[in-house]
Order: sequence, then structure tokens, then C-alpha cells
Amino acid sequence: MKIEKTSASKLNHVDFENLSFGSVFTDHMFVCNYKEGQWQTPEVLPYQPLSFEPSMSVLHYGQAVFEGMKAYKDDGGKVWLFRPDENFKRINRSSVRLQIPKFPKEYFFDGLKTLLKIDNDWIKPGFGNSLYVRPFVFSSQAGVQASPAKEYMFIIICCPVKAYYGREVNVLIAEEYSRAADGGIGFTKAAGNYAAQFYPTSLAQEQGYQQIVWTDAKSHEYLEEAGTMNIFFRIGDKLLTAPTNDRILDGITRKSVIQIAKDAGIEVDVRPIKISEIVASSKNNSLREMFGSGTAVVINPIKSFGYQGVNYKLPEIGDPVASKLKEQIMSIQYNLTSDPHGWRFEV
Ligand SMILES: *Cc1c(COP(=O)(O)O)cnc(C)c1O
Repeated sequence: MKIEKTSASKLNHVDFENLSFGSVFTDHMFVCNYKEGQWQTPEVLPYQPLSFEPSMSVLHYGQAVFEGMKAYKDDGGKVWLFRPDENFKRINRSSVRLQIPKFPKEYFFDGLKTLLKIDNDWIKPGFGNSLYVRPFVFSSQAGVQASPAKEYMFIIICCPVKAYYGREVNVLIAEEYSRAADGGIGFTKAAGNYAAQFYPTSLAQEQGYQQIVWTDAKSHEYLEEAGTMNIFFRIGDKLLTAPTNDRILDGITRKSVIQIAKDAGIEVDVRPIKISEIVASSKNNSLREMFGSGTAVVINPIKSFGYQGVNYKLPEIGDPVASKLKEQIMSIQYNLTSDPHGWRFEV
């Protein structure tokens, strides 16, 4: 790997107490180019703008996928990732679906380790503080031929994030729009999946909802994902979540929540969930909690949901399962507790 360090660190100019998510980046980035049928020697370079031709393929045909993960620093100064092998496998699953060449495992892990060591001072200790790590890959070839590109760039950039307590959200259940189709790319972290959500979400925001709960594209009868998070329901003492399929992203937080809940003796049903069932259980007061799961906030409680013009409020309960699961997962991430499933990865 080639390494070029910056001569002008930005570290002392950053206000770590007032970070807005995803707007400040560390001093370095990892870059690897694909050309002539193979991934070239990777590099770590100073974070900097890229230049490209207006005909660059990704701008026209959208071959772009990404990942989202976090690095955590414990009180002893050790740096940890959480289940990074899952991110590695997933970015290649996404790539395959978008006809992007797979990225080699050793480049991925060497890149992460080298970058996180060089930008180590950007990772602040303290429960909740972390470094958000964004690997992504896109077609970088010039030319507007509507065919898969022959050149790609794989990049990793990082931004420091402060302890962030996701605020409770009100969600609107989708009755018209969909984020994913059968046989489509819903299971991938393709850039275009996000683009397709912005407009329907903005309409929901006009009605006072922060996020949309996506339903199956065919019947709009089954609940699938909450915005860019997986979704969980607690009915009585049981947790419910939808099974993954080609429309639903296989979230690493989702998997971890299911496992941690089972470890705690909580029953988890993974099965298709009808809207009518959730509405009925809200009406008979057995619906106790709803929450989203994802790397950014781990678990985000849902305050109410809107469906067919009616707003259904979740009860305010003193001891939510959502908080316990979040605490438990974060304790593993920050090396504050044992790690029975081997999820921590020391950088
Ligand atoms: C990234 C993402 C998630 C959450 O996945 P994690 O691995 O838990 O961060 C859920 N749904 C969608 C659509 C996503 O893009």
C-alpha cells in the first residue's frame, strides 16, 4: 500500500462538541482503482477533491454502492470495529448485483486498519462518540456507453460523530410509493435506493412525519423497513421483525438485535408482518414498542405511525426493551462487556 500523509492536519480546527453528522471528514482517505481487469495497488492519501470527466459513467448510469460502519475507542485507547466482515461481504453482494467487480478482502481490511491507524486521533473515546466509516465504490470510466464500466474507484472516507441520541420519530406507512421491487436492488446498499426515497419522504415530512415505513411493492399490506433502518415491533413481550428478502436490506444491527434479544430470553418472531395486525394490536393496546435499527443510531424508537389518515400513538412505557437492547449492543461495541459472539474486531 502506498501512503502519503497530509502536511496540514485539520484536527485542531474541528469542534468535536458540535459535529453535525457526516459533514466533517478526517485527514486521510483510502483509494483503490480498478482498471485493465484488476484492482490496482491501494493508497492512503490526504482527503481531497477528486476530478472527473462529465461523462463519468456513475453520473449517468448509477453504478454505485456503499457501506456504513463505525470505529469505537475504549477507555484504554484501543480501537474496535463491529462485525466488519459483515460489511465486507455485503459490499461485495451489492457490487455483484450492480455488475461492479468484487473488492479483495485483504485490501478492504488492510485499508481499514491503515486508515484508522493514521487517523486514530480523530476517534474520540467516550460512550457514544465514534468515527463513522464510509466505504464506497463507483464506476469511474469516462464515456456514456450504456454498459458496465471497465474502471471503478473504491474509496473509504471517515467522519467523526458525537454521541447522538436518536430522537423519537413519527413514521408514515407507505400506501403508494415503494423503495424496492421484487427481483430488484432493495437488498443492496445501492446509492439509487436512497435517491428513490427522498421525494416520497419529503411528502411525508410535509404531513409531519420524519420517515416512511416501506411496505411490499405488490400489495402494500406488509411492513418492511423504516426509512433506511430495519424495523421491529414489540407486541406483548414478543419482538417481531420481517424476514430479509430481495427487497429488504440485511442489516447488521438487525441481526445483532435479534441475537441479543434471544440471549436475554426475549422471544423474537421473524415473519412477514401485516399492517392490519399492527393496527389491531395498537387498538387493543398490545403494541408496546416500535423501533428502527441501523448503524448510525443503533436503535431509534418510534413515537407514532400514520396509516390511512389515522395517527396511532405508541404508549409511553417506563422500561422499554429498545433501550436495554441498545445499551447492550453499545456495551459490546465499546468493549465494556464480554463479547460472546466474537463481534468485536480490534484495529
Ligand atoms: C444500511 C441500511 C440498514 C441498516 O443496516 P445496518 O447494517 O444495521 O447499518 C437498513 N436498511 C437500509 C435500507 C439500509 O440501507
